[in-house]
Amino acid sequence: MNQHTLSRRLAQVAAHVPVGARLADIGSDHAYLPVALMHQGVITAAVAGEVALTPFHAAERTVRENDLQAQITVRLANGLAAIEPGDGITAVSLCGMGGETIRDILDSGKARLNGQERLILQPNGGEQPLRQWLMENHYRILFEEVLHENRFDYEIIVAERSGPVVYSAEQLYFGPLQMQACSPAFIAKWQRTLRRKQTTLVQFQQAHAVPEQKVQDVTRQVQWITQLLG
Ligand code: SAM
Repeated sequence: MNQHTLSRRLAQVAAHVPVGARLADIGSDHAYLPVALMHQGVITAAVAGEVALTPFHAAERTVRENDLQAQITVRLANGLAAIEPGDGITAVSLCGMGGETIRDILDSGKARLNGQERLILQPNGGEQPLRQWLMENHYRILFEEVLHENRFDYEIIVAERSGPVVYSAEQLYFGPLQMQACSPAFIAKWQRTLRRKQTTLVQFQQAHAVPEQKVQDVTRQVQWITQLLG
């Protein structure tokens, strides 16, 4: 993967960035996403935010080597603190982090959002708490998908602030749109997850002193997944 050839995962994320957007890519690492989108003529400006020094330097290098310093600003910052009011950001991407981390970044930085930005999120696990945050903060999920690459299941969730929205517990767990679409990748992910959860339940039965709440949670999830796949 590089700034010219994105992974399938980042290429799918890129496909949801609106033409003409001013993008904040938070946790940008090498800044491949904003640089590729700039080369494709999709975005007009970007901020690449990084909290860690090594990826921050990597992002600076990619931007410099592509001669895009005038269009892409690289900032060493924690989460949405990379966004400044004058940036006029219209889309925010947070990719390749756990769903809880993405949720925490959104929650602690929400004062930096004006509510008009499209959020393009690619959590690695922890999708349920992330969807919960979206619902509680009045973001409607506009698009979501599962994709399988390099033996991992990745989810992409695109959301915009729309006013109050209500999702059921199952919708928060599986994704409201994915439950409807039931794509082959989605079904395959949940078949794999079901096998894992069933193994976990057997281990719980063999182990002593597993908290009852934990057993109940996994049992409920196995029921939901079985119903979904049925
Ligand atoms: N977004 C890229 C992608 O999807 O390929 C890079 C993903 S990399 C696994 C996660 C990056 O997020 C790391 O470079 C890490 O330093 C950065 N990161 C983690 N927490 C962050 C935070 N609170 N603010 C900014 N960057 C963060």
